[in-house]
Amino acid sequence: MNNQTISLGDFELTAISDGYYVADGGAFFGVVPKVMWQRKVKSDENNRIKVSCNSVLVRTGAKNVLIETGIGSKLPEKFKNIYQNEEKLLENLGAAGVGPEEIDVVINSHLHFDHCGWNTVYRNGVAVATFPRAKYYAPEGEWKHGSLQLERDRVSYISDNYDPLIRSGQMQLLAGDTEILPGISVAVYPGHTRNMMAVFIRSGGKTACYISDLIPTTWHLDVTWVMAYDLFPLETIESRKRYYAQAVPEQWLTIFTHDPEIPWIYPALEGGKIVAKPV
Ligand SMILES: [Zn+2]
Repeated sequence: MNNQTISLGDFELTAISDGYYVADGGAFFGVVPKVMWQRKVKSDENNRIKVSCNSVLVRTGAKNVLIETGIGSKLPEKFKNIYQNEEKLLENLGAAGVGPEEIDVVINSHLHFDHCGWNTVYRNGVAVATFPRAKYYAPEGEWKHGSLQLERDRVSYISDNYDPLIRSGQMQLLAGDTEILPGISVAVYPGHTRNMMAVFIRSGGKTACYISDLIPTTWHLDVTWVMAYDLFPLETIESRKRYYAQAVPEQWLTIFTHDPEIPWIYPALEGGKIVAKPV
C-alpha cells in the first residue's frame, strides 16, 4: 500500500505500510465460515490471504509520532519464507520525508511481533533502537504477559523487539489509559489480548483512533467477525460495541492495522450493521 495522508485538525496523519505479508485466512476469520469471508477477500491455493502491516506517522507540528512498527527486518529466514513480508517501513517513511532519527515518539499498541518489529534492528548481531532519539511506549501488561512465554502465544513475543529498549530506559511501559503528548493518548481495549491499547489522536475537535487488532481490517467491522488469534473473543465483541458506541456518533476516523488497501474509514450504522463510510 502506498503512503496516504490526511489532515486531522492541526495534525497531519500518514499511513505508512511495512509492506504486504501473507496470513492464514482461517486464522484471520476465526469461526466465520470461509463461504462467507471469501466474498470479501480471495485466498491462494494454501488458503492464505494478503494483508499489510500499517503504521501511522503523526506530525503534530512539534513532534513526529510513529504508531506501530510492523514486522521489521529481524525475522529468521524460516519465518520470512512463511510470511513473505516486505520490510518496507523505513523506505516508506523516507518517502514521507522522515528519517529514523527524526522520530520523537514510538507507540506500540501491543507487543506481538508484527506490531513492534522495527522497534529495533540488528547491528553486529545486537538489537539496537531503530529510532535513536525516540521515546518508546508500550503496555506494561503486554510485556509481563510476553515475558511469561506461554505455550499459546510465545511465538508472538520476541524479546529483541522490546527488552533492549526497556533495559536502556528508552521504552516506558504504561500501566493503563495515559496521555502521552497533548492530543496523543492510549486506552485499553481488551479482547485480542488483555492489555492491547488503542491510540487516540485528537486535534481541532476531531478524533482518529488506531484501533489495532481489535478491528484489524474493514472485513472485521461486524462485532462477531473475530480473529482466531484473539485470546478473549467475547471481550473483543464487548470492546467493539464500546468502541462503536462512541466512534459512530462522534465520527472517529478509524485506522486499520492490517487492511491491505484501506488505511482508514468512518464507521457508520446502517440497518443495524456497522459499515464503512469511505474517507
Ligand atoms: Zn496482535
